[in-house]
Amino acid sequence: MPKNAPTYDFPLHHGRLSLSFAGTIGDRGSLQTERLASPEALAAWLKAAEVTSAPLAITPRVYRRALQLREAIARAATRAAAGKKLDATDITQINGFAKAGASRIALDPKTLTIVDAVRDPVAAAFGRIARDAIELLGSSDERSRLRTCGLTTCGSIFLTPAGRRERRWCSMARCGNRAKVSAFRDRTQRA
Ligand SMILES: [Zn+2]
Repeated sequence: MPKNAPTYDFPLHHGRLSLSFAGTIGDRGSLQTERLASPEALAAWLKAAEVTSAPLAITPRVYRRALQLREAIARAATRAAAGKKLDATDITQINGFAKAGASRIALDPKTLTIVDAVRDPVAAAFGRIARDAIELLGSSDERSRLRTCGLTTCGSIFLTPAGRRERRWCSMARCGNRAKVSAFRDRTQRA
C-alpha cells in the first residue's frame, strides 16, 4: 500500500449490498457523514463490498450518477421501511441502472465460449447494486423486514434477519453501543 493511502470506514452490516451502498452516508439522521467523498473512495468501496475484484477507474460523471443511484435506493428503502408508497422517479432510476448493467450472454464465434456481452465493467458494477435493490424491494418478505436503525442519529436502513430475534440497531457494535453509552449518560446526569 502506498504511503498516505487514505483509510476508509465502510460498514457493510446492513444485510444487503444495496442497503450498505445507501449506508455510505453515515448518520443520515444527523451529521450525514459522506463516506464516498471522491471517485477514488467510490472505487475503494466497490472493491471492499466485493462488487468488483479489480479497482475501477471512476470518472467524475460516473461518480455523480452513482451517488444519484445511491440516493434513489436510500429514499426507496426508507419509504419501504415506513410502509410508504415508493416514488416512481426512484424506481425508474434504479431500473435504468439495472438495465444498463444487465448481464447479456453471447457466444464468442472464435472460441465458442460463453462471454458476458456487457463490456463496460462500470455499468456492470452499478447494475449489480441496482439489481440487488430490485430483488430487495420486489420481495414482500424482505420489504417487511426493512428496519430503520433505533439510534435516531444513525437512521440507517437495514434488513433484520428472517426468523431470528428482531434487531434494534443496524449494528450492535456501532449503534447499539452508542445508544447504550448515551442512555447511561442520561441516567447518570439525572441522578
Ligand atoms: Zn445504526
